[in-house]
Amino acid sequence: LRSGRVDLGQRSETVHRANLSAIVRGIHEGGPMSRSDLVASTGLTRSAIRGLVHELTDAGFAMESTAVRLGTPGRPSPVVRLDPRSAVVVGLEILVDSIAASVVGLGGVVLREARADRPGRNLEVDAVVGDVAELARDLDFDADGTLIGVGVAVAGVVRRSDGLVSTAPNLGWRDAPLGAKLARALGVSVPVAVANDADLGALAEHRRGAAVGVDDVLYVSGEVGVGGGAIVGGVPLQGAAGYAGEIGHLPVNPTGRPCRCGSTGCWETEVGEGALLALAGRPRDAGRAGVDRVLEDARAGDPTAVAALSQVGRWLGIGLAGLVNVLNPDLVVLGAMHARIHPFVHQSIELELDRRTLAAPRSLVRVVPATLGPNAPMLGAAELAFEPFLSDPAAWFSGRDVSLRVASA
Ligand SMILES: [Zn+2]
Repeated sequence: LRSGRVDLGQRSETVHRANLSAIVRGIHEGGPMSRSDLVASTGLTRSAIRGLVHELTDAGFAMESTAVRLGTPGRPSPVVRLDPRSAVVVGLEILVDSIAASVVGLGGVVLREARADRPGRNLEVDAVVGDVAELARDLDFDADGTLIGVGVAVAGVVRRSDGLVSTAPNLGWRDAPLGAKLARALGVSVPVAVANDADLGALAEHRRGAAVGVDDVLYVSGEVGVGGGAIVGGVPLQGAAGYAGEIGHLPVNPTGRPCRCGSTGCWETEVGEGALLALAGRPRDAGRAGVDRVLEDARAGDPTAVAALSQVGRWLGIGLAGLVNVLNPDLVVLGAMHARIHPFVHQSIELELDRRTLAAPRSLVRVVPATLGPNAPMLGAAELAFEPFLSDPAAWFSGRDVSLRVASA
């Protein structure tokens, strides 16, 4: 567990609630654990763990299965698991040509999910909000009666405090109150947390994908736009207002193409979907299907497709070299389209990294494709929605005076 050892001497309610949080977070992120594992990972005593686990089972959030002996000496230890239906969230994703919705249970269990492509459809905020809300309602998100939050991943720059999308160049949005509009459209009173899609992709890959256990990670995710999320020392880099990570608008080519953001030669104009498609001689708006065709051609040895991919790989490597020099990550995770093209671009990337990165950070960094596939931002949105619960599960214990239980824990 991440929270580490807590001072057993301080039996304040604050410590008690922090201990509950450590246990719930540990099982939510790492899966079912035996009581002995919980003792080992929290540093709490056996009896403290027993008391805390009983509180969680009494409140209906956890279950204990029969003790199993795992070849270790001593008494077998009961395994504690979370009940996925005891607290559920809605995870939503809004990209330029697709939307997705999911109902995710405690422990990160995806209970139901749906995705809809909407290329060339109306991108007005209200139209998109209406479509996403409908997709979520079709999943019966309130059927379990235990909805605790909604998380939204959107391809834009988001002010975390209120879910305002300050700008989303590829959606054409400016100062859109997305969180408030979604709460209204869904008819929910639970919190609606909104964040950038790549930031949430990074969170999901860190928690459940390619970057589990790695504390310094750069996530790069390309579709129509190119986004990124950095995890620095285990903590997502947000910037002063949550706007950090807009690596798609890193200026890399002063003589390049105009960007949707109003600048020229941003990284996404060289490594985004449109750039790859144009280099391969296809319409810039041919979308995911167009990229699939470029990859098919490349597999068949078509020189135009191979050259287009290698050019995109070169620009990926140039941008990554700068970012690696600045951030010194252990791992670069390529998501979305960049995960799909990884087999065709990784040599060009490595070449540019060798050429342009300082020796010390270069020797540490590995570049790998994401493992959660296209769902990473949506899964990250669900994780965002779980955050208030994970930070203080006791706040959700209804009709129970938590402070009375302190003595027993
Ligand atoms: Zn730009």
